[in-house]
Amino acid sequence: MTGFAADVLTLYPEMFPGPLGVSLAGRALGEGGWQLTATQIRDFAEGRHRNVDDTPAGGGPGMVMRADVLARAIDAVSPPDDSRPRLLMTPRGAPLKQARVRELAAGPGVVIICGRFEGVDERVISRRRLEEVSIGDYVLSGGEVAAIVLLDAVVRLLPGVMGNDLSGLAESFEEGLLEHAQYTRPPVFEDEVIPPVLLSGDHAKVDAWRRADAEQVTAERRPDLWAVHRATKGRK
Ligand code: SAH
Repeated sequence: MTGFAADVLTLYPEMFPGPLGVSLAGRALGEGGWQLTATQIRDFAEGRHRNVDDTPAGGGPGMVMRADVLARAIDAVSPPDDSRPRLLMTPRGAPLKQARVRELAAGPGVVIICGRFEGVDERVISRRRLEEVSIGDYVLSGGEVAAIVLLDAVVRLLPGVMGNDLSGLAESFEEGLLEHAQYTRPPVFEDEVIPPVLLSGDHAKVDAWRRADAEQVTAERRPDLWAVHRATKGRK
């Protein structure tokens, strides 16, 4: 098998490829530039009712996904010698950052476990060494949308997926800064003009304007990123 291979374990495999089946990611998927397999977790449940979840130990509302069922599903798609990271989408995880996205895109692929209900039994996380990943400080109804977000971010970085490979370089987060503002035709929109320097043809001045704009917007909107950028600038 060639290229980046994503295995997704989910109770809703019909949600895939979903948005990943269109545009650049979808074209690359169709051309074999990456592979996506969605596996139904319920296929690994036993008994007449094929239960994948049960009531939480200690009581309380909702249901918890069973460790034994999930472990069988994981083992079926990812044998012990699989070098791909096994990611569990969960709001308790490490917030997903562009740096991790880049690492994943440079690797052989990912195995992604999508939670539902109140989450998954802690023991499958430790026994299968799952890397817990969050896409932000809010609670979704399931891990599928989070998995699609992560794969979208990763797949666009795979070689040959983006039309212009250079456009990945100066983007938000690449230097710990947000991206500068963007403009295109028409030159005047409802009395508002494009900053003249961008139309000057002077590339050094354009670069300086963009740099200053990126720094200003980062300082204003994301003091957290700005503090890190200022602390690490010049050490690279
Ligand atoms: N009771 C859990 C939330 C369960 S939400 C808690 O409070 O932590 C159900 C599932 O949606 C989770 O198992 C996870 O797979 C997914 N999910 C919800 N929010 C997410 C987020 N911010 N990032 C990644 N996955 C998320």
